[in-house]
Amino acid sequence: MNKAASTGHGDALPVERWQTRVMSAPSLDTTVYLDRLDRVRAAMGEHDVDAVMLSVGHDLPYLTGYTSMPLERLTLLIVPREGDPSLLIPGLEAARVTAQPGVFQLLPWTETDDPTAIASTLVAGAHRIAVGDQMWARFLVEMLPHLSGVEFTRAVDVVGALRRTKDQAEIDALAAAGAAVDLIAGELQRGEIPLVGRTEADVSAHLGRRIIEEGHQRVNFAIVAAGENASSPHHHPGDRVIREDEIVLCDFGGTMNGYCSDTTRCVFTGEIAADVAEAYAILHDAQAAGVAAAAIGTPCEDVDRATRKVIADAGYGEYFIHRTGHGIGLEEHEDPYIVEGNDLPLAAGHAFSVEPGIYVPGKWGMRLEDIVVATDDGPRQLNNSDHSLIALV
Ligand code: ZN
Ligand code: ZN
Ligand code: ZN
Repeated sequence: MNKAASTGHGDALPVERWQTRVMSAPSLDTTVYLDRLDRVRAAMGEHDVDAVMLSVGHDLPYLTGYTSMPLERLTLLIVPREGDPSLLIPGLEAARVTAQPGVFQLLPWTETDDPTAIASTLVAGAHRIAVGDQMWARFLVEMLPHLSGVEFTRAVDVVGALRRTKDQAEIDALAAAGAAVDLIAGELQRGEIPLVGRTEADVSAHLGRRIIEEGHQRVNFAIVAAGENASSPHHHPGDRVIREDEIVLCDFGGTMNGYCSDTTRCVFTGEIAADVAEAYAILHDAQAAGVAAAAIGTPCEDVDRATRKVIADAGYGEYFIHRTGHGIGLEEHEDPYIVEGNDLPLAAGHAFSVEPGIYVPGKWGMRLEDIVVATDDGPRQLNNSDHSLIALV
């Protein structure tokens, strides 16, 4: 199934929404795509792959600027080790494709063509083919009889490392999306988004509207969790009415020009309770320690350890019940994951969240989340709204 149905925040997103609201990635300068294709071909050489086949999913827009709808008709980008890539698409979709001269040749197929036979001829002679995770099984099964003796591997081996390392255009897009949601976080912190007396669902809808107004094309999630509900990290906002004197956790983001935003801030609807203030001071230090640890060469798991140590040393370790963060880009949750066991060293251009939390079941929960990019000049935070727990009185 698609990633939207299986990744973290995305759990709240009905599959139908992903299917009906196809987003276009930004149409970037042709040189950006040519550079990415060069790097794909270099990776193909390293992995002894003769051709890459990509269908629906996020690798396709990454390499072409074109986002395919998850249709029953075949859409397939074929990247040979040498020679021009071909984008095989249903003829009726051709009008939605922005031509990228020099990047790929467009091959629309008609309703009476056999697209898998055409695709098979385009990869004839390949010995090892890397296939995107989200190519429907049906199309690969139909191609198999044409491709006897071919060895198949996952395209993530070829494209994954590239997508993990954002180029400047991608970092700019993530920064713009981050700045947009920071404006909304500021409104929340100044009390401009009313909370007390409203339901979580109502405030969630309000955040969603603001996300669109601030330039996103899609809302991916807007978690609003009050009081005890905040102790569930991915709480689904419901009928619970927000009261005075409690914590309200808001975790929201969307997709803007192809790239995702994701930030979490908490506010308190009254004078901050002593136990909450004490825990938040620890959370604040833990998150800052995670950001500070995010230097090039640091293993991802060490960023996780940095946040976890602060929380554990303060005695709250059992209440920090998830990994420290996730990569972000075309998808809300993607590589690299900031989690124990991931020894991948951070490299310039890795973009990810640093979002420790403390969740005391039945009482309250809190999380503080920024998107961070590893750069040659150290960690760069793409979210810069106030990091403190603001008392709205
Ligand atoms: Zn999450
Ligand atoms: Zn989040
Ligand atoms: Zn996140």
